[in-house]
Amino acid sequence: MKWRNKGHEFDNIGEILKKIDNIYIYGAGKYGEQLGRLFQGVGASYTYIDRNQKKAWNGKAPIQPTEINLKKILDENAIIILALGVNNSGTVLKELELQGFSRKENIYFYAEWISYYIYIYAAYKLDKIILPQCGAMAVYNCTLRCKNCMGAFPYFREKKNVPWEIVKRDIDACFFKIDYVENWGIGCGECFLYENLNDYIIYCMDNYRTHFGRLVLDTNGTVIPKGDVLETIRRYGCYLSISNYSTIPGWQKRVEELERKLKEYEIPYLFVNYDYWIDMGWREKKIHDKALTYEKFNACSVPCRIVQNGHLNYCIHAMTANQALFHEDVEEDTLDLMRCDKRHLLEFNLGFNENGALKTCAHCNGFGNINSKKISVAEQL
Ligand code: SF4
Ligand code: SF4
Repeated sequence: MKWRNKGHEFDNIGEILKKIDNIYIYGAGKYGEQLGRLFQGVGASYTYIDRNQKKAWNGKAPIQPTEINLKKILDENAIIILALGVNNSGTVLKELELQGFSRKENIYFYAEWISYYIYIYAAYKLDKIILPQCGAMAVYNCTLRCKNCMGAFPYFREKKNVPWEIVKRDIDACFFKIDYVENWGIGCGECFLYENLNDYIIYCMDNYRTHFGRLVLDTNGTVIPKGDVLETIRRYGCYLSISNYSTIPGWQKRVEELERKLKEYEIPYLFVNYDYWIDMGWREKKIHDKALTYEKFNACSVPCRIVQNGHLNYCIHAMTANQALFHEDVEEDTLDLMRCDKRHLLEFNLGFNENGALKTCAHCNGFGNINSKKISVAEQL
């Protein structure tokens, strides 16, 4: 969306959310935990409601649904967010509505908070900015050459990792204005090819640990990190996410070696498996007309923000694909973190910008469900 009233796009809903004094999260399971971690990250208080009286992840016992006091909740300007599965949501919503609660007045669903309202609430009520995912761009090198790489890394003519001093400045720039990032990572092709990965982890963990939920390192599983890096990952409790490239000859053997090392250092890891990839369309070098470009951007739910040279980029894939293939001046599509206002940051993160889309969206098929161009996993050049 194109900015029309920059800095005030969410004033209406912001004023409504600002009046909330107490938040109850109904359901202390997986969804409730995700929401609770974000609220905790920005210093908001909340209470769990759950039949299961086992302590929630934050160490506090939830209150029983039978103890909900309608009058108290209405008097204290509170809301209830239903953080439940689809079937349970309906059942609980019915019970609460029959007791006098009402949708949009004091009952909300998890999905609308986790993907939308929480950002506005944090900005208007707490003056805090949350991002779902972000990192500082550091690594352009990769061990593989995937034909349909989302970041178009194999198509760079020349690839150099970013010098540590610049990356460090970008980490500082990011946390200068952004208060909390749910998943903090590193902008990369293959993260274990970064010569300063150790510095990156230590610097973020020592200086900004309370500013992100967890530090996640994404790897393609082909590089066995050195002992000092493994030790740092273990010491700081970082997460490792290994993408499954088992279609590549030799990958399985390599990843088994990596798993042995991770077990030796007691580092938790998980595999991310894909039945198929989506083709971003970079290689076609097509140009959508304006209407389709806006449509792509407005429907795109890409969560992957990235900081480079003190600027926040909305989409890491757009940034690196442009650097590799299109070479357009996209500074206008970014936000200068040292100069921007916090409300501009909120709006930028929720899809507002100067031109209504990123220039690179004109070449892109889109991210997630809006892209139906399925392709085989990790075909190599
Ligand atoms: S998809 Fe991943 S592994 Fe493949 S080239 Fe791109 S960054 Fe490297
Ligand atoms: S449409 Fe493509 S380039 Fe634009 S934001 Fe989405 S993924 Fe990025």
